[in-house]
This record gives sequence, C-alpha cells and structure tokens, in this order.
Amino acid sequence: MKPFPPYRIQVVKEIPITTRQQREDALARASYNMFDLPSNMVTIDLLTDSGTGAVSAAQEAAAAQADRSYAGSDSYYRFRAVLDEVTSYPHVFPVHQGRAAERVLFSSVLKAGQLSLSNTHFDTTRANVELLGAEARDLPCAEFWNLDSTEPFKGNVDLAALEDTLRSEGERVGQVLITITNNGGGGQPVSMANLRAVRALCDRYGVPFFLDAARFAENAWMVVQREAGYGHLTPREVARQAFALADGCVASLKKDGIAPMGAVIGLRDPEVAKRCEVNLIATEGFRTYGGLAAHDLERVARGVEEVLDPNYLRSREADAAYFAELVNRAGVDIVRPAGMHALYLNAGRLLQHIPPHGFPGHALASELYLAGGVRCVELGSLYLGTFDEDHNLVTPAPFELVRVAIPRRTYTQAHLEYVADVLADVAKNPTRVASYRVVDAPPVLRHFNLTLERIPPRP
Ligand SMILES: *Cc1c(COP(=O)(O)O)cnc(C)c1O
Repeated sequence: MKPFPPYRIQVVKEIPITTRQQREDALARASYNMFDLPSNMVTIDLLTDSGTGAVSAAQEAAAAQADRSYAGSDSYYRFRAVLDEVTSYPHVFPVHQGRAAERVLFSSVLKAGQLSLSNTHFDTTRANVELLGAEARDLPCAEFWNLDSTEPFKGNVDLAALEDTLRSEGERVGQVLITITNNGGGGQPVSMANLRAVRALCDRYGVPFFLDAARFAENAWMVVQREAGYGHLTPREVARQAFALADGCVASLKKDGIAPMGAVIGLRDPEVAKRCEVNLIATEGFRTYGGLAAHDLERVARGVEEVLDPNYLRSREADAAYFAELVNRAGVDIVRPAGMHALYLNAGRLLQHIPPHGFPGHALASELYLAGGVRCVELGSLYLGTFDEDHNLVTPAPFELVRVAIPRRTYTQAHLEYVADVLADVAKNPTRVASYRVVDAPPVLRHFNLTLERIPPRP
C-alpha cells in the first residue's frame, strides 16, 4: 500500500495565484534574484525546507503553554528532556538558529589558520569557519561526483582523503564536521559505517568530531531503508547511535525540528561546553533560552518527537520519490538517488545551449517562476563559481543544479504534480529559456545579494 501522511489538515493558508505578466514584472523588480521576490508573488515556494514546515496542533498547544521565565523555564526543561534523550550529550544549549550554533561552537574550538574538514560544509557553515580565519575543506566521497550514480550513501566523506589530510596536516586540523544529510551535496545520506570510520580516525588523530545534524531524522530513515544491519531499528534508535558516535553537534531545528525557529548545540567535553556557554550568554541569550522565545523551545521539543515518527518519514520519503518520478517523466534528470528534503535538478544537462557564464541553473529556476510561480534556487556557478572584480565568471561550479526543496507537511501531491507540469512545459522547449548576466554582487554570500540581467535567447 502507498504510504500516506499520518495527519489531516486543520488549518490552511491561501496561496497567491498570479499572471505571467505579474511574475515578469515582479522578477524584474527583484533584479532576477529569487531572494528579493516578495512571497505574495510566489505560488509554490520551494526555495527552502528551513522553517517552512507546517506546525502541528500539538506544537501550537505546547507553544500556548510556554513559560517565559528568563532562567530555568519549564519550556527549557521540556526542550532539554527531548534533546537529551535523542542526542545523549551531557551539555545541550538552545540557540536561535543553526548558523548561531556554528558561530558559538566554532569560535570555541577553531583557531585562525586551522582546518575544518567535512563531507561538505553548508554555506553558512563555511562562512562561519572562514570568518574565524580558518579554512573549510570539503572531502566528499568519489560517488558524489557522479550525479547519475544510484549509490545509496553519496553523502559519505572520502575516508582515504580524510585520513591523508589528518596525517599530513596534523595539529592544523581543528575539527571534523560531518553534515547529515549532505545538503550541499544533493541531500544524500551518510552511512553509519562512514560515521563509525570517522569516529575511529578522529580518535587516532585526536581531533574532535561534530555532526551538522540539521536532517538527523531523514538521515536515520535512509539508513534504516538502505544500510545492511539497520532495517530492524527505528529511526530514533539510529539517530541516537549517530549522535553517540560524535563529540557533539550543531543542528538547525528549522529543518527536522519542524519548527519556524530554533537550533541546538550538543557537547560532551565540559571545557568546550564552558567556553560555548560564555559566548552564548554574551551573544545569544542565557543558557536556558539561547535567543529563542519560550514558545519556540516548545515547538522544537515537540517537533523533534514528531519528526521521528516512522509513518511520517515513510510518507515524506514517498512524496520525494513520487516527485522525482514525475520530474524524470517530464524529461529532467535529478541528482540520483532522490533524497528526502529536496530534488536537485540537472540544469546543465537540460539547458545545453546556455554555457556556465549564462548560468543554466539560475535560468531554469527563473523560468520555473515565470512559467508557473514556482520559486526555487540554483546551486551552480552563481553559488559556487569564482568571479573577477567585474563580476565575470572565472571558474564555473562542477555542476549546474537547481535545488527544489520540499517543505515538511506543507504541500500535497497535487502541488508537486503542478510543479512537475510546469517543469515539463519548460523542458519541452529548453532553447527558449533565457540566460543571465551578473550586474552586481558582493564578495561574500554572493547568491543572497546579487543582481542580474536577463539575456533573451536568439530567435
Ligand atoms: C540550514 C542549515 C544550516 C544553518 O541553519 P540555519 O538555521 O538556517 O541558520 C547549517 N547546516 C545545514 C546542513 C543546514 O541545512
């Protein structure tokens, strides 16, 4: 039997229906930057799965009961109870969102000139490493480079490269940070075997091992489905084992916490925890709320319980798989195999008439918006390429992708079918899709702030 969502919809929000002309005007006003589009001009918003999931009646009920005491609030103890149980870390701090967790943790463990090694650093994660004067180095496994390979754990770190780097760089390596699932790498999961091997290497070389665990539940679910020896476990048991392998974690809970806001830092080492705590109190908030309003502590605590429900995870995986099938039927390739939080469209392959300096990923994302009011974002040369001072592309990204995120519990299969129909229309006449030119861009976090110009295709 086909899996179905283990909930019914009790509260809904209307979505805007617009005309092509309105969308043309809106995108031009936004200088062709998806982040500058007002959401009241977006019909289906697949920009991100972060903070965009639907909250449950139980989360809202808990939020209504929140205790706003500055220190030691009931809401904090409920948050602690849930996070302690799942992560097993003796030191757990709430933080307002993932990037704050990164800043607080990294500034307590990394020094300027040191190295952070990862399967793939997420964009804010890389920025927080680099802001400390340290270097973020990605070591994804070999299968990661083959978009069409259906290997089950393409999120793994390259263990041989990790060991080589640990050996050759010695003391320079300040931390190993494994992202589960690998958001920057196609949303692919990391196997438990890979995490165990990372643990052993970090023990051998005396380097702390942290998880960037924004999608800990989805990673656990894919381990249950795909990894030999885990099929009999619950996703909660697998998630607990994953956290137990590491020395600590940073985790945005806007993803698998199914909350509008929130994150957590978990730590074993009391000395690192002490340093983090001082930084947290000085910059985020007292240790029992960490920059979060009490109602958000409650939503997070409840969300972390709900996300581990196997019926929910099964239905979410089925949605992503169904969406992937529709996209493939529309004639568009994705990074295989489909993960759970997003599909990554292979725009480079679809729009072969657009060279990297015309930004095929951005071209496809823009066309999806113009054709159907669907918002998503490129992960290609705009995001990962290097540019000269006049904003000309110097080194293209290895792939020209578009990330189509799937917010949790938010859209029905009919919405996904609509998106696939829009994509199918675009894919029928790929040579009609326009390319783009960068007009202006800041040197850091470029993709959020750039402005572009549209270059219509030759008739
Ligand atoms: C979203 C995300 C972050 C940053 O979290 P925010 O809550 O958006 O600040 C860090 N790492 C990964 C893998 C993420 O997906």
